[in-house]
Amino acid sequence: MIHRSKTRPVKVGNLTVGGSNELFIQSMTTTKTHDVDATVRQIERLEEAGCQIVRVACPDERAANAIPEIKKRIHIPLVADIHFDYRLALKAIEGGVDKIRINPGNIGKRERVEAVVKAAKERGIPIRIGVNAGSLERHILQKYGYPTADGMVESALHHIQILEDLDFHDIIVSMKASDVNLAIEAYEKAAKTFDYPLHLGITESGTLFSGTIKSAAGLGTILSKGIGNTLRVSLSADPVEEVKVARELLKIFGLSSNAPTLVSCPTCGRIEIDLISIANEVEEYLQTIKAPIKVSVLGCAVNGPGEAREADIGIAGARGEGLLFRKGKVMRKVPEETMVEELKKEIDLLAEEYYKK
Ligand code: SF4
Repeated sequence: MIHRSKTRPVKVGNLTVGGSNELFIQSMTTTKTHDVDATVRQIERLEEAGCQIVRVACPDERAANAIPEIKKRIHIPLVADIHFDYRLALKAIEGGVDKIRINPGNIGKRERVEAVVKAAKERGIPIRIGVNAGSLERHILQKYGYPTADGMVESALHHIQILEDLDFHDIIVSMKASDVNLAIEAYEKAAKTFDYPLHLGITESGTLFSGTIKSAAGLGTILSKGIGNTLRVSLSADPVEEVKVARELLKIFGLSSNAPTLVSCPTCGRIEIDLISIANEVEEYLQTIKAPIKVSVLGCAVNGPGEAREADIGIAGARGEGLLFRKGKVMRKVPEETMVEELKKEIDLLAEEYYKK
């Protein structure tokens, strides 16, 4: 759970991003921000799925005006995403956001940048600089010819310098690209160049299926290098799916403190139960559990318990029944019809034990 590269700690609401803190899962709403009820409903679903920081688009005054009410009704830090318009940034800050995403180099006149930085300082909120390979500054593109990792780092430094000149250091930076290799290189170079926390993302990664694979390949590589302090999986899908994918990724790298893991066999000719449906049902159920339990679901009893010796709890199919086992030892036999329900009860008991600790 410890991020390996040293970064500055930056407060985002009640969370501290960077330093030796865990990596936080972020997502972004897809509702119209001015539709407060719809936005809050979506944020509640995201919170339930494990989202720890949420960003809303703030494209106009109606959106900025909705910030105080949204903030009042949610429980996780709120980020306002602003492009260019410093007045919207000021309004969002006044409305109580916990972070703003705006590139200071795009705000315009110095007085405007100063006004935003002053407001952010007064409220103690950070600014996220969002470098995107698809929208690098013209002078950088002219210098490098096309988007490169060096160009992206130069762009980040350009925006960072503007904030540092105003003695502002509560900065988080993202280096997004839809090209996976470019994003990996850009994040690596950024991690070596400055010590501000990094928000990870592979932008415009695609649909639920292809985007999950692309994000897993890109973000997984970056995470494996110990880089990253917050993370968003960007998918053309319900944002709840982004959070689910992010949770899985963090689990894989041992970066999640409270997420259960499901082990399920690929099935083969020895299969005795409808394993695929069972595995999907158990996986769905585990989304509601906030404890680091390892659950195993196996198609047969031949290799079952042995294959899942590391699991806290599991089930292995046998003819017309299932073997419920714990830590590789069979506890009892259960009829096939009630097998999943019995497993869920055992999962609940284990989760309760964890919550009480
Ligand atoms: Fe085959 Fe049984 Fe192994 Fe599943 S647990 S892959 S059904 S041998």
